Amino acid sequence: MRYTTLASGSNGNCTYVEGNDTRLLIDAGLTAKQLERNMETLGIDPGSMDAIVVTHEHIDHVRGVGVLARRYGLPIYASAGTWGAMASIIGKIKPEQIKTLELEMFLEIRGLKLEIFPTPHDTSGSIGLTVSDGRRRMGLATDSGYVTRGMGRRLLGCDAIILEANHDVRMLQEGPYPYALKRRVAGQQGHLSNRAAGEALVKFCEQGTRQVLLAHLSETNNRPELALETVATCLRDGGFAVALTLTNDRCGDAIALSVAPRYDAHPLVAV
Ligand SMILES: [Zn+2]
Ligand SMILES: [Zn+2]
Repeated sequence: MRYTTLASGSNGNCTYVEGNDTRLLIDAGLTAKQLERNMETLGIDPGSMDAIVVTHEHIDHVRGVGVLARRYGLPIYASAGTWGAMASIIGKIKPEQIKTLELEMFLEIRGLKLEIFPTPHDTSGSIGLTVSDGRRRMGLATDSGYVTRGMGRRLLGCDAIILEANHDVRMLQEGPYPYALKRRVAGQQGHLSNRAAGEALVKFCEQGTRQVLLAHLSETNNRPELALETVATCLRDGGFAVALTLTNDRCGDAIALSVAPRYDAHPLVAV
């Protein structure tokens, strides 16, 4: 199985996963044109996708969903709440392309097994998920105010995790956002801080996770070096060796740690 991010951050998010002859996009938050270009830089044919899974309706996750789905005839999987909020944003979709997810469920999309779980975010039904090809399992959770017990349970034991490290708490507090927005971002339905991500990752790495890709960094309230440093410190304090890497490929027993680029594709990673 292989995965990568095609874009990450409040400008737009898109994750790509392939395995068992099946190719998924999770969110499509840049324009279709930008995402197609980012796929092509990795040698991925945009016409070879099998489905789009949408985590929630915020524009940084759905901007390109409608165009990609219509252009390539792709089914779109999203929760009922997300469909309700997203339908008017993504334009006309044929009924046979509309697939509704429960907030907690297992499903198979062609050769890949997915587990869907709810995430705490200011939306009408946002989800995280794990994807398995039967041999390896990777997990994805962004846009979460905190790591709920349910999320922790589902992500435990994943070989690789893409986890939000949205903001540095101090940069957010001292930064230019208005008070209400600071409260929203730091709140229980907002976004995960670097430290919260690091603390959760210690538990996941204790159960075997060895590849960690930090995602959805704030442009205003975070810096890639700071996210890496904060998470690496948590992991080292937890007793792990950490390998800071650009590729996120497995590094023996050390935790391979990298950051998802904002506008460009991260290299494809084998899990
Ligand atoms: Zn987002
Ligand atoms: Zn969001």
